[in-house]
Amino acid sequence: MSRARNAFTVDLEAWFHVCGVGGALARDNWDRLPSRVERTTRILLDLLNDVGVPATFFAVGWVAERHPGLIRRIVDQGHEIASHGWDHARVFRMDRATFANDLAISRKAIEDAAGVAVTGYRAPSFSIDARTPWAHQELAAQGYAYSSSVAPVAHDHYGWREAPRFAFHPLAGSDFVEIPVTTALFAGRRLAAGGGGFFRVLPYAFSRWAIRQVNREGRPAVFYFHPWEIDPEQPRVEDAPLRSRFRHYTNLDVMADKLRQLIGEFAWGRMDALAAVEARAASRLAA
Ligand SMILES: [Zn+2]
Repeated sequence: MSRARNAFTVDLEAWFHVCGVGGALARDNWDRLPSRVERTTRILLDLLNDVGVPATFFAVGWVAERHPGLIRRIVDQGHEIASHGWDHARVFRMDRATFANDLAISRKAIEDAAGVAVTGYRAPSFSIDARTPWAHQELAAQGYAYSSSVAPVAHDHYGWREAPRFAFHPLAGSDFVEIPVTTALFAGRRLAAGGGGFFRVLPYAFSRWAIRQVNREGRPAVFYFHPWEIDPEQPRVEDAPLRSRFRHYTNLDVMADKLRQLIGEFAWGRMDALAAVEARAASRLAA
């Protein structure tokens, strides 16, 4: 079995920040909703720490501002803290100035809580795509070293299907690197196989197959997970669209066991370490 070091990443957001479900919940009410992020993230931290796996937590600034102790704890336990934007607004819904502000306020909240510098970014819902040619420029201008914000697939509500499957330098003359989320090839098509419904809904064997395929290609996988995925008691949102509800709530209770299997079977590390290695193998986008 390949021991390529893959990246284990957590998108640190509250259950009501998820796009498909969050749309049914008004932003004005967020502070009155029960926050379960502290409890669920601690479960996840215990799971990682039990086996000594360092991971990257992409935190929403809104969460960092309200739970600074949790952010500090993540850093103290040897994990990387990075940015997942301010309030989970998707990048393709912004213009460059709005994105610049979103990056700046979220970074300040996260760094204030963490006491360390943030150098990585993940767009909410992998929302950097062909519509946002300025996004990587703005990230590089603000001093970020890497982004893991592209899903190089065609999907119903995200995806940049023409993007490379593996690490690439999106900007001429810059070492800034984009590390797309993992895709697997099946019958000539790309499947988004780095987490989400692929991991939550399908049997574990599908994730094992996808990661093995990528590692056999000599490349690391980028896996992502959310604290709410191990929270079977989270409040149900009855008026969310049925398909979103299915994606969000299926199999929550078996998640912890599935995660332990995944963590035990492959070699994992932080995204910043993987980005440094992958930057040397990265392709360059044609200008
Ligand atoms: Zn997210």
